[in-house]
Amino acid sequence: MSQAIHPVPEPSHKATARCESCGGTALRVVLRDEIWTYSGARGPAEYRYDFLGCAGCGLGFVYPKPDAETIASLYEDYSFYAFDPEAPRREAASLKYRLARARHAALARPTAAARFGAFVPALFEWASGRIFTFTLGLPPNLSKAARIMDVGFGRGAWLLTMKELGYTDLAGYDIDANNARANALREAGVAIYCGPFVDGDFDGRPFDLIRLEHVFEHLADPAAVLGRIYTLLKPGGWLVMNYPAHHNPLFAQFPRAWGHADFPRHLYLHSRRSTRRYLEQAGFAIAGLRLYGDPLALAQTVNIGLLGAKNRIPRPVFAALAPLYALFCRVAGAGDLITVAAHKPAA
Ligand SMILES: [Zn+2]
Repeated sequence: MSQAIHPVPEPSHKATARCESCGGTALRVVLRDEIWTYSGARGPAEYRYDFLGCAGCGLGFVYPKPDAETIASLYEDYSFYAFDPEAPRREAASLKYRLARARHAALARPTAAARFGAFVPALFEWASGRIFTFTLGLPPNLSKAARIMDVGFGRGAWLLTMKELGYTDLAGYDIDANNARANALREAGVAIYCGPFVDGDFDGRPFDLIRLEHVFEHLADPAAVLGRIYTLLKPGGWLVMNYPAHHNPLFAQFPRAWGHADFPRHLYLHSRRSTRRYLEQAGFAIAGLRLYGDPLALAQTVNIGLLGAKNRIPRPVFAALAPLYALFCRVAGAGDLITVAAHKPAA
């Protein structure tokens, strides 16, 4: 963070750009000459980039990639992760988690009554387009004693919700975890780690599951992080991730207004094909990979992109239409988010 970079990268760098996933050079400029301004170590600084799309594997990426100081500046004022101590209890009691728990219970003890009780949650899960009981974020056969890490835990709500649901061996990683929400997690008995992820030892005990929820698209070196995750998992251990998808009609129509177009914080928008490449190159076996629809992103895109104001159509209207949108995406095999479950092959 000590080195300031002030030179603005040349905008016409396309000729030298290369896709990191497949090595392809057939690249399309999706957004040109975008500018991120920030207060650099030596005064106001500017980082200029394009957003490119690879014709080969479908990966979208910010180019040139920002350096460490610029990346740090992206998160200086990131109030999105404000800590709400009441959120986990609320979350754990929410309909979505109640449905997911009924589903887990039925899979753990498949009696006729349990199966009947899980019918509605299973239908809900299918319609929303998520794999397994991904409303909970966990494969169903995972024991309550499983060692689980949330990489990029953000608000920490998911970890505390898991605690609330009876999971005992929980860990959270974030790049900078020295703050109120990290302390609240520590007090709840969650092991907290920070610093460079790839150098992390995490107490040397392997994990049963590692989760990245809206994190993969932020990683400056996704291949290195996936490689490290692979070594941290037990044989048979799971990696589960959700993140924005490059190819979806909302982004194609409104590349700036789309709810997940958070460039340059989002350094990548992945495709199914680029996801497959990254995971298989790291050694993972893919158990499920699909697109699903995010009604809140639809709300933001319509309001800002189409109607020009944030709450022109109020959110409750979209909330009411959300199941229909999710179902439409499920049936069409489309959506603006990717959900993926992969495991490290058993030895
Ligand atoms: Zn590519």
